[in-house]
Amino acid sequence: MRLSHGVVSYGREKIEFSFCHVDRKTLEIAVHPNQTVVVKAPLGVESAEVQRRVAKRARWIIKQRNYFRQFEPRTPARCYVGGETHLYLGKRYRLKISSENQDSVKLLKGYFEIQVKGRVTSDKVKCLLDGWYAKKASSKFRESLDYCWPRFKKLSVVQPRLQIKRLKKRWGSLSGRGTLTLNTDLIRASKGCINYVITHELCHLQSKVHGPKFYKTLERIMPDWKKRKQKLELTLV
Ligand SMILES: [Zn+2]
Repeated sequence: MRLSHGVVSYGREKIEFSFCHVDRKTLEIAVHPNQTVVVKAPLGVESAEVQRRVAKRARWIIKQRNYFRQFEPRTPARCYVGGETHLYLGKRYRLKISSENQDSVKLLKGYFEIQVKGRVTSDKVKCLLDGWYAKKASSKFRESLDYCWPRFKKLSVVQPRLQIKRLKKRWGSLSGRGTLTLNTDLIRASKGCINYVITHELCHLQSKVHGPKFYKTLERIMPDWKKRKQKLELTLV
């Protein structure tokens, strides 16, 4: 299958896309979570026509792209040194680091008290803090899922299996095989935002695409989802 490339301008935005010809009747434009645009055109459709069709859907493509962009975790460069602030459940805590005879991480009186066994290095601090976040993520995300789930029970859907891992581009995803994956980094966001991401993904149990049905369910279950979404985007920068 040969892949060609094209580009379309829409206002100040540029839409780069790749396309291929396949044995199908209609032209399909897909925007993927990594924000790439892929067009599948029926055999014989010329590239000028593909270009025209992409231009016609430009507004929609940009909307989709922006939608996926919001889920990109924007983690600033961190140094893991004393005094630096790190987020946990939407609040900032300063790092207090000391060299002791054991490794430990505690959240005490507004501080992350990090004890490092032996010589303190940023790598060691990062490793300890990441481990602490991962442990908290597994208990807090479970709690959030249990909290959000009752509202989905009556939709006669099956509760997905929870998986937590570091994702590069998304806060969460729901696989067709019923696995809800949450990004470990989401533990930095407030509970309200965590519940929003979970609720969003659970709405996909009923409809896979972000269509009217999806938003109707989301709106009904979580009327203030837009506010939470905005907060998530603002805090995790
Ligand atoms: Zn979604």
